[in-house]
Amino acid sequence: MRDEASQLPVALICRRCGSDVVANSAQYDVFEGMHYVCFHYEFEHAGDPDVECEAGGCPAAGIALSSLSMRVNGCDISQAGNTVVPAILALRQLGCVVTIEGETTVARLRDAVFRADDPVAALGLVKLAETRHPWSASDAEIDEILREFGLNG
Ligand SMILES: [Zn+2]
Ligand SMILES: [Zn+2]
Repeated sequence: MRDEASQLPVALICRRCGSDVVANSAQYDVFEGMHYVCFHYEFEHAGDPDVECEAGGCPAAGIALSSLSMRVNGCDISQAGNTVVPAILALRQLGCVVTIEGETTVARLRDAVFRADDPVAALGLVKLAETRHPWSASDAEIDEILREFGLNG
């Protein structure tokens, strides 16, 4: 949407909260002139706004989950025999099917497969895949990190 006189994009204003609609401006009409979140709370959400409702895409989903740094706050864990069982339990909690095939721990989640020497490493691979897209490093990243840590490629 453009203002013909100035040729500048016209700011879309949310009619519920009054602030600019930027991220979902393409769906401005679909959301009846509101932010997605404002639309959801205006028309779809039932009950306490801080509690996830039944509607798909509820913005309150995950509010009860604090940030990673808060969740791991105070942990001091070293990889040892006592981390094997918790790692298997954590993999299962994440929805993985865990099997030990020969010397290899295999964790499967739908069509994803993670193979490692032990369950803790398999759990690490799941976190790697979750954190990086794609998970692998580029040539430039490899060079930079090998140099930073004084490793040989
Ligand atoms: Zn709004
Ligand atoms: Zn909701």
